[in-house]
Amino acid sequence: MWMDVLLLYGGMEMEWLNKEMTDRAWIEIDFMNLKHNVSFLESIMNKRCKLMAVVKANAYGHGSTEIARYLNQLGVDSFAVATLDEGISLRKQGIEGEILVLGYTSPFRFQDLITYNIIQTIIDYDYGQKVNEFNQNIAVHIKIDTGMHRLGIKTSDVLQIKELLLCKSLNVKGMFTHLCVADSNDEKDIRYTQNQIDNFYQLVDELKKDGIEIPKIHLQSSYGLLNYPNIPCDYARIGIALYGSLSELGDKTKIEPNLLPVLSLRARVALVRELEEGECMGYGLTFLAHRNSKVAVVSIGYGDGYPRNLSKGAGRVLIHGQYAGIIGNICMDQLLIDVTDIDEVKEGDIVTLIGKDSDKEIKAVEVSSASDTLANELLSRLGSRLKRIYKDLSYI
Ligand SMILES: *Cc1c(COP(=O)(O)O)cnc(C)c1O
Repeated sequence: MWMDVLLLYGGMEMEWLNKEMTDRAWIEIDFMNLKHNVSFLESIMNKRCKLMAVVKANAYGHGSTEIARYLNQLGVDSFAVATLDEGISLRKQGIEGEILVLGYTSPFRFQDLITYNIIQTIIDYDYGQKVNEFNQNIAVHIKIDTGMHRLGIKTSDVLQIKELLLCKSLNVKGMFTHLCVADSNDEKDIRYTQNQIDNFYQLVDELKKDGIEIPKIHLQSSYGLLNYPNIPCDYARIGIALYGSLSELGDKTKIEPNLLPVLSLRARVALVRELEEGECMGYGLTFLAHRNSKVAVVSIGYGDGYPRNLSKGAGRVLIHGQYAGIIGNICMDQLLIDVTDIDEVKEGDIVTLIGKDSDKEIKAVEVSSASDTLANELLSRLGSRLKRIYKDLSYI
């Protein structure tokens, strides 16, 4: 990592990038922007509330070990993952603090929860009984279904919840719910969300009346925090906002998100070729040159997680500080861009698919929107074939 850092900042030129890390297609992660996002998100949380960094799906494509390690250095000591194996991987890499598995873990693997000191979500009453029957004092958070109807025990099943709280082998460290329309400004959705929040706190109060104090409660994810910031709770489970993006283009949130994108996606030009007017190009011959054209073949494709439905002009990239449209069909490992109007494009030039190039920028959420999906999906699908470079100015 040191070498990359020195090479990145050893000179002003992008060409100083480590040539082996940037030979084909790669991701650059900007830790300073991640640090900025952490500070901003913490600044809009209640005093009592702490950041629970959601690092599932390889930290939304950013590299879970490196992201969690850096967050550990910043003092973040609470993480959420989707699967047990994601949690184990973090532990094996020396990540400290609490790790909560948000999803299902098979009873065959309960021992690993103890071995690796990982907290399991109780996804319903029967599951809670199974964890209890394992008889090993497993740390858990109980999931409450307040309206999403995916995982969790219904607030009306308060007797079941109380029963679980009395189970000898359940070390209940927390209780949480998930808001399912917190991103929406629609009046009906706001009422639905408020109802979810109210039902959750009614349950908390009812337990309190019985003398049961749940150590930690949490309910917001990124949009929950940005749209419902003043909820008294112990954690906010933040994913997409931590990485400096919203999920959808044009979303308006109650709190203006002061976020900086953490990830850039770049690739090299493999070659540049001339196409005569009337010639076609690529799979399906879907591109027809309406004039004598210059086309660059770029070494990244849908096999790297770049969406194929950005073919035929739907997507664009930056090269030499200018926009260039994607032409023809995107291939598994390569794509084509029209550089007829851009001077001196040559083999080895850097193409930016997400990120800044001089004064222009392509945001992840713009790419995902053009591809008809969320930034969350686009980022989490960025593949293992992409090398990941971590830039941290504070090391220098
Ligand atoms: C993925 C996930 C989050 C994070 O959501 P973002 O919208 O990315 O902040 C929070 N809570 C649960 C239960 C999740 O599954």
